[in-house]
Amino acid sequence: MPTILFLNAPLRKSRDAAVILPNGPRAGAVVNRMNLLLCSDLDRTLIPNGPEPESPRARALLRELARRPEITLAYVSGRDRALIEAAIREWRLPVPAYAIGDVGTTIYEVRDGKWRPWSEWAREIAPDWRGLGRDGLAALFADLDGLTPQPPEQQGVFKLSYHVPRAAARGPLLAEVQRRLAAHRVRASLIWSIDEARDTGLLDVLPAGATKLHAVRFLMAHRGFQEEHTVFAGDSGNDLPALTGGLQAVLVANAGEDVRQEALRLVEANGNLDRLYLARGGFLGMNGCYAAGVLEGLVHFIPQVECWLDARRA
Ligand SMILES: [Mg+2]
Repeated sequence: MPTILFLNAPLRKSRDAAVILPNGPRAGAVVNRMNLLLCSDLDRTLIPNGPEPESPRARALLRELARRPEITLAYVSGRDRALIEAAIREWRLPVPAYAIGDVGTTIYEVRDGKWRPWSEWAREIAPDWRGLGRDGLAALFADLDGLTPQPPEQQGVFKLSYHVPRAAARGPLLAEVQRRLAAHRVRASLIWSIDEARDTGLLDVLPAGATKLHAVRFLMAHRGFQEEHTVFAGDSGNDLPALTGGLQAVLVANAGEDVRQEALRLVEANGNLDRLYLARGGFLGMNGCYAAGVLEGLVHFIPQVECWLDARRA
């Protein structure tokens, strides 16, 4: 006797993929599959390139998990596309569905091995620079001593990057850059960091809206991921807004004590204490560092994930 499917609601192209089971005891049932978005920083979060050891099974478990149809993986990194792809190869990381790179200024959709920059994101953040573009913005600072443009491969459509002598008077220099930006009503964030290997200062000028947190929220809104089905994982200072801004978030156990304290202070101030999980180790006998911490935090917020991991271990 043929199976006849009666659907009392039309199939929707919605955030929860509708799956029809054509045979078996639940023939005809429509199951709304959970659609989870796992967003993770790379260096020292999924990539075990810090001083702490990595639990041996952690990345293999993560790879297994990433194969589940319920999981959508997004990397959120300061790396550019080439360095993200290099990390995937070197550390045998799963290929993500999305990659937020260049310090949050680019979102790629990855499909069938092709990386497509998401023009919707460019349109979202472009107004911060008042249509100036990178070259237009650079012209504002051309006469400033101490700012040396980084090579072209370090620049992005929405990332203007300089080398700055480490001994440069950082305060006055940044103040002058800020003054010129304000005079042109450009909304930009200035990211100052140190390249220890080259013993030089680095300055990135980015659209103010191009943060990891804003990019994750943009991805959620445009692909229909719900708050309770989204988890962000990170380890360091540039992850703090995303860790403490209201997303379900996990700080891996290898994070520095200063980052842990600052994260706790911020979630308390923001009223998000229950939205941040501090990985501590012990989950599946692992140490809570790197991928182990990401998995521990994901299971904390979405306990069903543990069943999938158990099934894989059996
Ligand atoms: Mg990191």
